[in-house]
Amino acid sequence: MIHLCILIMTRTFMLRLCLPIFILFSTLQRSYALPHSSTPYGWASAVGDDESSVRTPLRGASSLLGVVENEVNSKSSGEVSQSAFELGLGQGANADIGIPFTFKDVENPQPIRGDLGSTDPGPRTYAYDRLNPNTFAPPGSDSGEVTQGKWPLGLSHNRILPGHAGWSRQENTDDLPGATAMAGVDMKLAPWAYRELHWHQANEWSLVLNGSVRVQTMNEDGETFTDDVTAGDVWYFPSGVPHSLQALDEGAEFMLVFDQGDFSDGGTSLITEMFLRNPKEVLSKNFQAPLSDFDEMPQDQLYIFNGTPAPKNLSEQIVPGPGGVASGNSSYTYHLSKQEAYETPGGSIKIIDPISFPIAKMFSAALVTIKPGAMREIHWHGTSDEWGFFLAGNARVSVYQAPTSGATIDFSAGDISYVKATATHYIENTGDEDVVFLEMLQATRFTDISVGQWLKLTPKEIIKDTLHVPDSFLDNLSANKQYVIQGNRNLTALADGIIGLVVEFVVAIDEARVRFTDDAHFFFVFLFLFHCLPH
Ligand code: MN
Ligand code: MN
Repeated sequence: MIHLCILIMTRTFMLRLCLPIFILFSTLQRSYALPHSSTPYGWASAVGDDESSVRTPLRGASSLLGVVENEVNSKSSGEVSQSAFELGLGQGANADIGIPFTFKDVENPQPIRGDLGSTDPGPRTYAYDRLNPNTFAPPGSDSGEVTQGKWPLGLSHNRILPGHAGWSRQENTDDLPGATAMAGVDMKLAPWAYRELHWHQANEWSLVLNGSVRVQTMNEDGETFTDDVTAGDVWYFPSGVPHSLQALDEGAEFMLVFDQGDFSDGGTSLITEMFLRNPKEVLSKNFQAPLSDFDEMPQDQLYIFNGTPAPKNLSEQIVPGPGGVASGNSSYTYHLSKQEAYETPGGSIKIIDPISFPIAKMFSAALVTIKPGAMREIHWHGTSDEWGFFLAGNARVSVYQAPTSGATIDFSAGDISYVKATATHYIENTGDEDVVFLEMLQATRFTDISVGQWLKLTPKEIIKDTLHVPDSFLDNLSANKQYVIQGNRNLTALADGIIGLVVEFVVAIDEARVRFTDDAHFFFVFLFLFHCLPH
């Protein structure tokens, strides 16, 4: 057969047809010739006395299959002994109360909440459990499954650039498959470093987190815009409009939010790549320039790279176009850092949406500050998913998602959150510093439905017949949105073990009860047996 094949293969025009057939036949021949026990799944054929060489020393004996006569002699326990762990303060309380406890000072955290759960002998990484007590030991109100809505940016691959020029990391649907409406990019530029001239299909909204940056753009009408923004300020670039960024003397970090869940910052159109992807003859013709002008052109994209100090005076870099310079409602920046926050008893809130920043047509945001113990009230957004970013502090969020699911999730600075439209949520400060949270919607204005306001503005009889709450509950509600509600400091303090001694005492007793339940059972059984003894 080989001779036949070689004969045919001398005919060059048959080569393409015959070579695959030859390979196929020789492969089949070889596999038919193999001993049965040497299939890739050797373990499957080695049964009974067929102890071929593939079994040892990598695989165990067939005598280990099924029922083994040895008695169970486990070297490890499936339980963590009660002396080897302690509960966080409040962890032993009734799971339905769902106290926000902490594992901060707990050496060996356990997934126990009131009467729920059991010890975890491992394998595990304590750091995750300490960061996520409400995931590890959820309150009794959690139920079913909620769209995954937490992405720590610390888990995002970081793109670090040469010359210490900067870095970028992102969150998109690769990380949170349900986060389809928005994606985020966290970017750092060293002093005077650039984010290269670029453009993209998604609309871009950004909040400056640290430092200052000079932003620059030109639109379809030859209208230009250049501005310096600082921490707390916002910019917006519509899809397709080219722009660049340069950090000022102290560098800059900013959070970019895009209105496409699958946006990737590695996929933008770049000026360097555009030059590299056109023949130099075309560049020469297009720009009416000699070929030699392109001799020094970068041979790879720059993305983020070090630059020369920009002129201190902004006006030196304003280049008026035939369309003029964008200003007023056409401005691409909003100096949110200078907007006064709306104060509430539990914190404060700044809203920026197209009503005050018209160019960002569908980007509506709230920058919320929540004091320790306080919380952003239970609410939902009617038409938009919510993309969130935690700038500071520690918090937890419970999401109720129709019809019967609920999940409580812990967040800390650097985490991204995502909640589907119409799903209720709150943000409770569980730490001892302020929580600062960016709440982003795709909407023409920032709106929510406040559950407290809704109940207050519904006829009393309906609420009482439905929820069986007393009149005093309804009397206490406000007809106005609360946004950030004053916290019950005792419960948070309880979790931190600082104050709230009375509640602490009650919980301590409760925990003691939980911990010594087995001993108590033994005691009562002993009493009962003693009682039954003839005397
Ligand atoms: Mn951009
Ligand atoms: Mn919200």
